[in-house]
Formats: sequence, structure tokens, C-alpha cells
Amino acid sequence: MSREEQVTQLTDYMAKFIAHVAKKLPDDVIAKLQELREKEDSPLSKTIYDTMFRNQELAVALNRPSCQDTGVLQFWVKCGTKFPLIDDLEALLKEAVVKATFEAPLRHNSVETFDEYNTGKNVGKGTPTVFWDIVPNSDKCEIYTYMAGGGCTLPGKAMVLMPGEGYEGVTKFVLDVMTSYGLNACPPLLVGVGVATSVETAALLSKKALMRPIGSHNDNERAAKMETLLEDGINAIGLGPQGMGGKYSVMGVNIENTARHPSAIGVAVNVGCWSHRRGHIVFDKDLNYTITTHSGVEL
Ligand code: SF4
Repeated sequence: MSREEQVTQLTDYMAKFIAHVAKKLPDDVIAKLQELREKEDSPLSKTIYDTMFRNQELAVALNRPSCQDTGVLQFWVKCGTKFPLIDDLEALLKEAVVKATFEAPLRHNSVETFDEYNTGKNVGKGTPTVFWDIVPNSDKCEIYTYMAGGGCTLPGKAMVLMPGEGYEGVTKFVLDVMTSYGLNACPPLLVGVGVATSVETAALLSKKALMRPIGSHNDNERAAKMETLLEDGINAIGLGPQGMGGKYSVMGVNIENTARHPSAIGVAVNVGCWSHRRGHIVFDKDLNYTITTHSGVEL
């Protein structure tokens, strides 16, 4: 295959993958929603979950996005320096988004700030967003595709705490965000928390945390314990499915962290809704692909 043919092939794969992610939830999200449906007692909660599952069936049967808000596309790319198409990747991801916008189709969600017009193609200045991790001596490329919907993006918040506020301060910050804005984001939620030094490092980690599978835990056992405690605390708010009340408000809490300055605690929250559309695909140098988030997909 020539380089041009490879670029066309990868663009096509990514356009199809984006369209699939828009229509079918990842396996871990479906399993968690089924688990929560069983654990809720109230008929209203069960009916809401049943409606979510019916919505999913219809999205696949009618070949339509599972939520009308297909979000702003964000890609977390972990790319080897020896991946043959590394130089073309950012441009081809943009092209794949345009292709998916018309073929899937996706809602037009890219409005140029200050000029205030919708580009109609889901691409604009800086959109889709591409976050890069470069991996030395590798010829593979991993791509997380994420659809950042409006409702689930709204609760996002980051700040730097005084050092004396400690982990109690982190907990208070997360619970304040959840009690004020959690309702807007179509619960049950996947809550991503970043703990680092500054607002931007914490904010990036809080979104990256949403790429982790539901049920996974931070490698640090204290951080993992905090994930469980926060999960219990947010469940106790009683948001329930779609905020209509229930025993479970979240699908999980994922914390990502780095070391920090001793005088500052950067903390951030990002939220994924019940329709948590993220997909993970890995390409080798010959563009053979493996999809880890969705079973039984052929692009
Ligand atoms: S929060 Fe999620 S499920 Fe609710 S409207 Fe937005 S994208 Fe759709």
C-alpha cells in the first residue's frame, strides 16, 4: 500500500469507528448499567433503565446515534515514534470527523468562538481536540475516541487548593460539584478526578481518568480507597438514573494523579454521562486494528 492509500485507509477506519462509538455504548458501560438496573428497587428507576436499554436497541436497529448530542470529538492518542502515519495523524483525524459527521450522521457541534457560527462539520479551530502521548521506540498507535456532550461537560471544574485543605478539601470539592451540577449530566455518571499541582494538569488528568474502564482502580492503594469512598459518598446523594432519585448516582469514580508542589493541591472533576461514548482502538504499523472497548466490531 502506498502512503496515500494508508492515509485513506486509516481515515476510513477512524470515520467508521467514530460512527460506531456514536451508536453503541462500550461493553463495560452496558454491563454496569445492567448491574445498576438490578440493584435499584424503585419501579421508576427500573423503568428509566429499561428506557435506556430500549434506546440502545433502537440506535443499533435504526443505525442512529444513541444520544442526539454526539458531542465535540476528543482524541487521546498514544502514538509510537515509529508509527508510519504519525505525521499525518492529526490531519487525518480531522478528516475522519468530517466524514463521520456526514456518514453517521453526527450533530453539528463545533461553533467558532467569537465569530459565533457553526462550522456544520464538527471541525473548527482546535476541534477535534487531540491530546498526544508520544511513546519512544514503538510502531503502534492507540487512540481513545471520546464524544464530549454538552450536559456531561457542564459540571467540569478545576481549582488549586491551599495545602492545608488536604484530602478532605479534595473530597469537599468533588462532592460540591456533584451536588450542584451532577444532576445536569444525565446520571448515572462516571466521575473522573485529577489530583496534581495546577489547574491544567489536574484538569487533563480528570478527563484522562474517564478513558479508564469502569471498575478499574488507581494503582496507588490510598487513591484506590479514595475512589471507593467517593463512589459511596456520591451514591449517597441519591441522584439515581437521570437524576430522578435512586440508590446509585455513579457508575464509578476514577482518580488519576501525579506528584505535586508541596504548597498546592490541584484538583479537577470531569464527568461522563450514562451514554459514555468512548472507544479504544489500537493500530499496528500495517494498520491491523484491535478494539478493546466494543466487542464484535468489524470496520
Ligand atoms: S449528558 Fe449525555 S446522555 Fe445526556 S444529553 Fe448529554 S450526551 Fe446525551
